[in-house]
Amino acid sequence: MRKYVGIQGKKTGAILLILSVMSMLVISVLWQGSAAVVSHYEKGHTVMLDPGHGGYDPGAITKQGVYEKTINLQIAQKVKEMLGPSGMGVFLTRGEDIDYVPDGVKGKTTKKQIDLNRRIDMAKEATADVFVSLHVNATASGQESGSETFYHYQSESGKVLAELIQQEMIKIPGMNRRIAKPGDFYVIKNTSMPAVIVEVGYLSSMKEQKKLQQSWYQDQLARAIAKGIANFFVLP
Ligand SMILES: [Zn+2]
Repeated sequence: MRKYVGIQGKKTGAILLILSVMSMLVISVLWQGSAAVVSHYEKGHTVMLDPGHGGYDPGAITKQGVYEKTINLQIAQKVKEMLGPSGMGVFLTRGEDIDYVPDGVKGKTTKKQIDLNRRIDMAKEATADVFVSLHVNATASGQESGSETFYHYQSESGKVLAELIQQEMIKIPGMNRRIAKPGDFYVIKNTSMPAVIVEVGYLSSMKEQKKLQQSWYQDQLARAIAKGIANFFVLP
């Protein structure tokens, strides 16, 4: 076995060199990627990202046991990482699989409202400039796919933010070309800052369900959301 040591040593050295060059390339690509997201950005803005659901509330569930709450959190963490180097204050309403409903509270609507109110309060307490709630859609038919971004129908600034995010979303290869839509959902209605709900795709679509769980696709979604948010802050 001894005679192979030298050869293996050389091989290992070469592999290590290749690996280190590759990792430097990856780092530089990632760095340029995140720099591109935030190149024209002014410091001082605060973003509250809200990974929808969590804890007792899984959100949409697939037959294969994929939970919406997990995907929401994974993408939110990626958006935070991408916006981080800009110097923006980026916060998450939850960084793990939790909810904000105290023990003993009963009633589906009451529980949901308590949980959402806590998230809305967190945005207010952080004096967030924008509130971005992340979700994954699902329908019974399983026919729909692609992202949808909603703003409160009475909020002009919310509409601008939603349009900027959706503009980036539709650049993702294979994405449906939907426009931002008005809505009357609880979190976008009750937040005091521009607020949007981004439904990043459909868990009910078999094709999209697979992609939504993959890191490379989550990266694309997160980058689109991060760019949309960054663009909102550079508008005159
Ligand atoms: Zn949801």
